Amino acid sequence: MEIGLKTKAERSDAPQSSGIVPFGTAAATPKSVLTAREIGAKGVALLSMSACGAPVPPGFILATALGRSAQASAAIVATKNSVPAAIGDALKQGLGDLGKRLSLAFGDPGKPLLVSLRSSPPEAMPKSQGAVLNLGLTLAALPAYAKALGGGDAHLWQAWDAYRRLLTSYAQHVLGLDAEPFESLRTEILESAKADAEQELDLEALQNLTRGIQAEVEKQSGALPRDPFEWLERCVASGFACWNSFEAEEHRRHLQKEDLPGTALIVQAMVHGSGSDGALSGAGRLDTRVPGTGDKQPHGTFLDQAQGSDLTSGVRLPEPLAKLATRAPGVHTELIAWGAKLEQRLHDALQVDFTVENGKLYLLTAGRANRTPRASLKIALDLVDEGICTQQEALLTLDPSVIDEYLHPVLDKSGVSGVLTKGLGASPGSAVGQVVFFAEQAVELAAQGIQTILVRHETSPEDIDGLKVAQGILTGHGGLTSHAAVVGRGMGKCVIVGAGELQINYLINEMSVGDVTVKRLDWLSLDGATGEVFLGRLPQVQPQLEGGVARALEWADAARTIGVHANADTPEDARHAVKLGAEGIGLCRTEHMFFDIDRIPLFRQMILAGDQTGRAAALSELLPLQRRDFLEIFRVMQGRPVTIRLLDPPLNEFLPKGIRSQTRTAKAMHIAVEVIQRRTDALTENNPMMGHRGCRLAITYPEIYNMQVRAIVEAACIVKKEGQDVHPEIMVPLVSSERELIVLRKDIETLMHRVMNELGEDIPIQIGTMIETPRAAVCSRSIARYADFYSFGTNDLTQMGYGFSRDDVGVFLPTYLERGILEADPFMALDQEGIGGLVRMAVEKGRRSNPKLKIGICGEHGGDPHSVEFFHRIGLDYVSCSPYRIPVARLAAGQAALQWQRGELLGAGLPPSRPSPDAGHV
Ligand code: PEP
Ligand code: MG
Repeated sequence: MEIGLKTKAERSDAPQSSGIVPFGTAAATPKSVLTAREIGAKGVALLSMSACGAPVPPGFILATALGRSAQASAAIVATKNSVPAAIGDALKQGLGDLGKRLSLAFGDPGKPLLVSLRSSPPEAMPKSQGAVLNLGLTLAALPAYAKALGGGDAHLWQAWDAYRRLLTSYAQHVLGLDAEPFESLRTEILESAKADAEQELDLEALQNLTRGIQAEVEKQSGALPRDPFEWLERCVASGFACWNSFEAEEHRRHLQKEDLPGTALIVQAMVHGSGSDGALSGAGRLDTRVPGTGDKQPHGTFLDQAQGSDLTSGVRLPEPLAKLATRAPGVHTELIAWGAKLEQRLHDALQVDFTVENGKLYLLTAGRANRTPRASLKIALDLVDEGICTQQEALLTLDPSVIDEYLHPVLDKSGVSGVLTKGLGASPGSAVGQVVFFAEQAVELAAQGIQTILVRHETSPEDIDGLKVAQGILTGHGGLTSHAAVVGRGMGKCVIVGAGELQINYLINEMSVGDVTVKRLDWLSLDGATGEVFLGRLPQVQPQLEGGVARALEWADAARTIGVHANADTPEDARHAVKLGAEGIGLCRTEHMFFDIDRIPLFRQMILAGDQTGRAAALSELLPLQRRDFLEIFRVMQGRPVTIRLLDPPLNEFLPKGIRSQTRTAKAMHIAVEVIQRRTDALTENNPMMGHRGCRLAITYPEIYNMQVRAIVEAACIVKKEGQDVHPEIMVPLVSSERELIVLRKDIETLMHRVMNELGEDIPIQIGTMIETPRAAVCSRSIARYADFYSFGTNDLTQMGYGFSRDDVGVFLPTYLERGILEADPFMALDQEGIGGLVRMAVEKGRRSNPKLKIGICGEHGGDPHSVEFFHRIGLDYVSCSPYRIPVARLAAGQAALQWQRGELLGAGLPPSRPSPDAGHV
């Protein structure tokens, strides 16, 4: 969890030289302002909570700087078990001060101070160390500790239980031990005691279990420290070292978050949800808004006699929070009031972890609440309307996939006779697919383009790849905080959990509900909003963008500094794009116009012509058709820029393939089939994507581009004469040398002026080029001198930069993803380091030699939120994407601009402003 909105912490003692920041009861008076970069997001929240008097168990934060110093990191990694003296001293100081505040002492069995240790990274980071509880206990200190608790049998039981939890959390989060032996031991002892959970064990059985766990830990990792301080030091060392693990570094590198300063750690006095005084004790989690819908209603769970990890372990089923209202109305009211107050302070919907110890409420941490994309929009709108946060803050809470969610189809249930079963709708939307029972099956079938519904008793982190590719997830067990629910929600997937009627038989790949059996690959349809499961394949209906989305997009438009254009080839596309907010057309692929049924024969005639005269004759027939296309597009775009790319694909692509199609074409054209075959053979290339295409075609067959340029300029002159503004731009594809551009630019300019003279108009028309070969990117300084604008063709640039064929990458991509060689398909999410490096270099060099150069991107990456953030960061003027992705790009561009303002976009990006014209040359 993290506080996403408010980066400034409350005033407090700065980490200063000691690197520790106290919070909670009797913490020192506030002095300076701290950020999540210094004390982590949880640290910021805790300071804020304690500053407003929330009942936070006291503690202290070990600042990021402590773990960050080069010597500290090196020493931590080298020794793993101990920390450098500076950290050891800080810990001692923090524990001493905390002990004084609570009149307890760490490591003193007579008045023991027990603490938890939690990671507090600046932003949520999946590889952070999990919470270790009850540090300060040792086996030898248990009797004294029980005495300090009250001395009764229940207190002894409680002391042993606390120690069991320490061992378990230490083994899992710090030592990372194999869980299987612990599970077997636990099962054995529970079974022989006929118990379902530890809470039902008597003292002797609990002691046996705990001793068994300790023996297993020592067997796997050596003797446990006798000194609790040494034990705590080990946990701190490992908490800081986690940040420097290979996996964590790789993860941050992938997210371009290498400059995050490190993690802070939080040491906090324990309160005991497993209290033993008869009054209510337990642990719970409050969501200030309903995660699935965003409704303003307290929501959450509570579990009696429990600590935090019990809530999600699935061993015991937590109760809905509402039950707390009847069992302990005072505690419930106090909790809800704090939730509302903290929302105001932290400017977001929150998830608050709390513990009740013998009837008294404690708030352990608060962070940004999980929410479905759909709920995130409602929450953002409500928070702004309620004055809890600003538009900009609200915009930053939205996941750009919220748009997908709104564009996501919903089930059409009109012809449905009944539901198969019902579970909890954990993440709305709908999903239709074929049933699989294992994550690997989902992955395999996804590679073949088959849509699946993953059905499991429950899911676990090992299922993550299956969760990613399945259309929907259905589980028989689990609640709204179960793994499937939390992870699926985060992914914006349709998820139904806890469908208790489901009987799943993994051995025979079958499930049943009553007497209905569903086999592997049978179709199911899920409604994630209602939790309904339907047999068969229901139709899905495309919803419209709603008012709320339009409002959020207005916020994004007000914030963004980068333009959003559309890739549109037809007047219909253009109309759709304008409706969705396109500010221009960034790529009109003219070849698509020639594939039209009444154009293709003429185009083929041109290709088959033996000489220039024959080609010119065919092209003169195409001219009026092409002019009409542009005319319509210019009219629709009403003066917005329209970037028209001259012909790009190899000519071979336009000829019929296969003897039957060739014979049919020959007949229609009244020529011998051999003519077509000979021409096809002559045009066949081994590597057509690197062959006779793009500007290379124009150098060898200038008449094709001449026809296109004439059509563009004539259409522009007509529209201008109609009294409408028109703003065409002519784009040359696949340039790899400035000489290509010099030659073509001269031809284009000469013809443009001739046509304008003929028609008595004077329209400023820019001439630019795509940057889509690595050489063009490297030689950008020379090319930019002859270009008014650039548009990065990141599809081809990825293809040629990696040397991965766009058409054949599917053969090995799944294995590359599976084996972690690639983190994502580079044709979907820009490889920011490699291909992005080429883009960045080309921008820098291009702007240095031509400061007026306008720069955009029109590859598929223009509609990918992470890539949009990158393009903003390196200072592009606009992104261009398919009309359907425009709202996503608008939202992502708005967020990128705000994040930039907040100084949160780190990394070695250029500022989004242009360098001054006299900047030095590369
Ligand atoms: C590109 O290469 O990124 C591009 C937009 O052109 P195309 O996809 O048409 O090759
Ligand atoms: Mg291209």
